[in-house]
Amino acid sequence: MSGKRVFVAGHRGMAGSAIVRRLTSENCTILFVDRREVDLTKEEPTLRWLEVNRPDVVVHAAAKVGGIAANNSYPVDFLCDNLAIELNVIRASHAAGVQRLLFLGSSCIYPKHAKQPITEDDLLTGPLEPTNEWYAIAKIAGLKMCQAYRRQYGDDFISAMPTNLYGHGDNYHPDHSHVPAALIRRFHEAKLAQAPSVTVWGTGTPLREFLNVDDLADACIFLLKHYSSDLPINVGSGDELSIADFAATVAQVVGYQGQLVFDRSKPDGTPRKLLDSARLRALGWRPNVSLRAGLAAAYEDFLQGCGRHLE
Ligand code: GDP
Repeated sequence: MSGKRVFVAGHRGMAGSAIVRRLTSENCTILFVDRREVDLTKEEPTLRWLEVNRPDVVVHAAAKVGGIAANNSYPVDFLCDNLAIELNVIRASHAAGVQRLLFLGSSCIYPKHAKQPITEDDLLTGPLEPTNEWYAIAKIAGLKMCQAYRRQYGDDFISAMPTNLYGHGDNYHPDHSHVPAALIRRFHEAKLAQAPSVTVWGTGTPLREFLNVDDLADACIFLLKHYSSDLPINVGSGDELSIADFAATVAQVVGYQGQLVFDRSKPDGTPRKLLDSARLRALGWRPNVSLRAGLAAAYEDFLQGCGRHLE
């Protein structure tokens, strides 16, 4: 990384902004561009920007993201915007002679009923979870583009698949967020209102693994330094718990003492999504942030108004 020009696509998102923070301790020049200046869903401006700015390294963290309800409600945006961004950024990176590219995917690329923990080899071995298949198909296409550019042109483009993320800079939209931000906000508001109960979506039984976004950022820089392969690589924490236990943990962190009520009319999504991160562990990377400490820091950020979309 030393002396390199590193372009972070998606620098305003939770993952991208964490990667920018992490890169400040590397001896590199960090490049980013505002959406108003370059819309990455548009081919020509994306290509022009990369050709003018000539990064050595690209971290592809730009994506249309959202929780289970947003994915279900906006299939066109999740499929088409993400495909467009990937095609433009990856193609332009090749055209601009980028040396290394890291594409960020998602654990939802794996089959709904994959055996657990899920290894990278489980990709495309079964049907996807329907609540996020649009996003998953786009992310699978992105990792396939990286593989294709490596195969056809020898480009050093790699793909990392993070598990469910939370942390600084999350989106706290009440309906469109992922479960950590949704519950931090809901428990906080219930605490202030002294509400006797809080609604948690689904049955509470699905299992999820949570990774702090600062750990993800650290893993990305580690991978850029130490990983070169056409095989995607999982980035998990091993911190797995049921949504009911997760909700109880968030309630404790926020200091809410009322009841949790499960709304079974809301979708559970995939029953379990635990990544096997043995490939990454074997390279020597470990997460640093415990779930409880990470949630406490996330709640602090929320209180400071760091969360976006607080309307
Ligand atoms: P997923 O991992 O792709 O399913 O993404 P989410 O973070 O949106 O949801 C994770 C799990 O948390 C699902 O089983 C949801 O039903 C459950 N959940 C419980 N309450 C909420 C909530 O308020 N918002 C969201 N997004 N999920 C919730």
